[in-house]
Amino acid sequence: MKLFNTLTRSMEEFVPLEEGKVRMYVCGPTVYNLIHIGNARPMIIFDTVRRYMEYKGYEVNYVSNFTDVDDKIIKKAQEEGVSAQEISERYIEECKKDMAGMNVRPATTHPRATEEIGGMIEMIQTLIDRGYAYAAEDGTVYFRVKMFREYGKLSHKNLDDLQSGFRALKVSGEEQKEDPLDFVLWKPKKEGEPFWPSPWCDGRPGWHIECSVMSKKYLGEQIDIHAGGEDLIFPHHENEIAQSECCNGKPFARYWMHNAFLNIDNKKMSKSLGNFRTVREISQEYDLQVLRFFMLNAHYRSPLNFSRELMEASGNALDRIVEAAGRLKDRKEAAEKREESPKASGEEQALMETARTFVTKFENAMDDDFNTADALAAVFELVKFANTSVTDASSAEFASGVLDILAKLCDVLGLIILKQDEILDREIEELIEERQAARKAKNFARADEIREELLSRGIILKDTREGVKWKRA
Ligand code: AMP
Ligand code: ZN
Repeated sequence: MKLFNTLTRSMEEFVPLEEGKVRMYVCGPTVYNLIHIGNARPMIIFDTVRRYMEYKGYEVNYVSNFTDVDDKIIKKAQEEGVSAQEISERYIEECKKDMAGMNVRPATTHPRATEEIGGMIEMIQTLIDRGYAYAAEDGTVYFRVKMFREYGKLSHKNLDDLQSGFRALKVSGEEQKEDPLDFVLWKPKKEGEPFWPSPWCDGRPGWHIECSVMSKKYLGEQIDIHAGGEDLIFPHHENEIAQSECCNGKPFARYWMHNAFLNIDNKKMSKSLGNFRTVREISQEYDLQVLRFFMLNAHYRSPLNFSRELMEASGNALDRIVEAAGRLKDRKEAAEKREESPKASGEEQALMETARTFVTKFENAMDDDFNTADALAAVFELVKFANTSVTDASSAEFASGVLDILAKLCDVLGLIILKQDEILDREIEELIEERQAARKAKNFARADEIREELLSRGIILKDTREGVKWKRA
């Protein structure tokens, strides 16, 4: 398996630190709004990387944070007259709903910045003790960039160029910095903002430190893959490297992966430009599986322009896969009923070999820096093959063999091609009755279990004064 490493700017063979295991960290969203489809790109891409690694037999420890303390969250909280925590919790929940809609699996761990402040203070203290950081008079702590000789190695910038850039800029209000390049690790509180006590002042962390701390806590000092959108290369990831390597005294992440941007009207889509579309808006027009397909149909390192035409084309293409899967399922079930020829014939066995060549094509594409567009092309070759080779006369074994291959490849891409059998109203009512009986008998564990089961099947229960109400999510 080869991947493009931003650090070395070259394609490299993937070799994990520990055999059979992958430690992976993906920078997550700042939660002050519904996520937009630009934010969805790294979520879908790196979820697919994770799925493919698992398909290859790796055990993947996948960590992705929620930045839940930040200027933008505080501003939104002030606008609404609620606490910053209320804002972040609301948008974490909304983000999780969007992730589920896109079939992005929850990370092994989703740490939140506000729950890791102790670890951040500890890391900052270590950096101060080692001479890599200093506290200014007002309690702001800065990282001493020049102390880290390798600063700039990820973004391929050199210190002299950075230095002259900063001199020309002359940032005001930062006179207390020893050097314009130094960045903030901890800053004093401002009126009305959340804060935590620290040895330097009551305040809150700078943005970069959280990822160094969470990555170390949940994955260890050295990790295999660190990922995010390309806008994070500088300064965020450069600063993470500086913090982690100066604190731990060893290389931080082995491979750095970055997705290119999702554009709209050929302009960068971002919250600050205001030209973004939320995943929620898109979900009102399209199944989010279509959005997932759209993202995977381009290479993750190529810029991608969002357009209605491409979304329509993605919807049609996805339908072709879903229809082929439905037909295979029908033929398999019909053959099982006929029972006359459950086993594959000699000719069918030979055809299975052909079907397997598409798996090889798929794997070769994914092994080549996760070329999901070529992997999808292999899926379509398989679809074409299935449509012509599996007929009403095929054996159940052959039809189900081809279906299994198709389902497995689509699962790696996170595309759902076989709809789960829909739960019927009658079944829902029965489960609700059982839940009411369990509650009466004070068997709350069973009652909760039923609520969870229904939720996992897309049914939301609401206990009201008039009794239990339900709706489909
Ligand atoms: P943010 O909430 O801005 O910190 O972004 C969360 C993640 O989304 C980061 O990995 C960003 O690099 C990524 N991201 C933000 N906007 C886009 C975009 N238009 N295209 C692709 N990735 C993006
Ligand atoms: Zn980060």
